[in-house]
Amino acid sequence: MTAPVVAPDEGVWTQVIGQPAVVAELRAAIADPTAMTHAWLFTGPPGSGRSVAARAFAAALQCPAGGDGTCHQCRTVLAGTHADVHVIVPEGLFIRVEEARDLVRVAGRAPSGGRWQVIIVEDADRMNEGAANAVLKMIEEPPPRTVVMLCAPSLHPDDISVTVRSRCRVIGLRTPTVDAIADVLIRRDAVDPALAAWSAGASGGHVGRARRLARDEEARLTRKAVLDVPLRLVSLAACLDAADDLLGAAKEETEAATGVRDAAETEALKASLGVGARGPGVAAGRGGAGQLKELERQQQRRATRIGRDSFDRALVDLAGLYRDALVRCSAPGETLPLNHPDRRADAEELGRRIGAEGALRRIEAILDCRRALEQNVKPQVALEALTVALRLPS
Ligand SMILES: [Zn+2]
Repeated sequence: MTAPVVAPDEGVWTQVIGQPAVVAELRAAIADPTAMTHAWLFTGPPGSGRSVAARAFAAALQCPAGGDGTCHQCRTVLAGTHADVHVIVPEGLFIRVEEARDLVRVAGRAPSGGRWQVIIVEDADRMNEGAANAVLKMIEEPPPRTVVMLCAPSLHPDDISVTVRSRCRVIGLRTPTVDAIADVLIRRDAVDPALAAWSAGASGGHVGRARRLARDEEARLTRKAVLDVPLRLVSLAACLDAADDLLGAAKEETEAATGVRDAAETEALKASLGVGARGPGVAAGRGGAGQLKELERQQQRRATRIGRDSFDRALVDLAGLYRDALVRCSAPGETLPLNHPDRRADAEELGRRIGAEGALRRIEAILDCRRALEQNVKPQVALEALTVALRLPS
């Protein structure tokens, strides 16, 4: 049995940037639904578009035309409102076992109107053991019309258990090229070509980051502030100042991302509990107070995650600059691609002052800081230790 298949440069596949091999493999699966694999693992470096590829695949599965991108099925899948496509995005640091159990329940149902019941788990590496076990049960005995797509970064392959991995068909995405990213910014987001080229070059192959840099002045300023750090670190005081700035930037970003949303959620919950009209605590009772507490906990988890992601981005940017310094001082004659092509002069200056050995040591310090943050070391402590380790020789 063969199904209609949309050309690789049309319909939903235009969303999947710079991944011809992946698109070919997914289109082949659409063409022969009788050979359907029920469990997929989309893996690739951050920003390579794992979840975008999974959503495009889900749309193509539901679409009677194989993913034309224009019909009701395609549009609702891509908009996240399709009744038979369920996406789980962990809000906290981990996917909780209750969330995973809900999914397993949904996966057991027949599709309501679509052709398949599709479950997409973003950041599947954030599943704890209980959640992973629940998902494993789901993919070991998949209902006939259910397709499960797990998305996880390839940086830490161990984060997905070998057992889960061995039950899945693995789709490996690559870092898209700078040209492919610039091209999509110009075509889809109508970004000016010069800005598109700059943003794509500065994004480290991360499509979402490139789009943010192209559209958001604030994101450009934050990146600049981070990349200005290495050459500022001339004294202990400057190091502590820089740590403070990095902390402040993450705090601001977290507040910008959560403030309005948290307040709206809290208001909505209070309204549904009848709090406010008769004064807090009167109508809410014990059950309502419990719900408000739970919401607060969820919001706290989300804020922690956004803060971590912000540190992570800063640390990746910093490591990229030291790596550029290493490249420039070890192989000055070669034109190896840089992580931050617009900061070549800084990389060269750094290379002169710290040498290849010093650059390597500093990259190691950045990785240590990342590990410390993952292990819940207080951010201020971890960042101060980092900036002191990055200090320039006098
Ligand atoms: Zn369609």
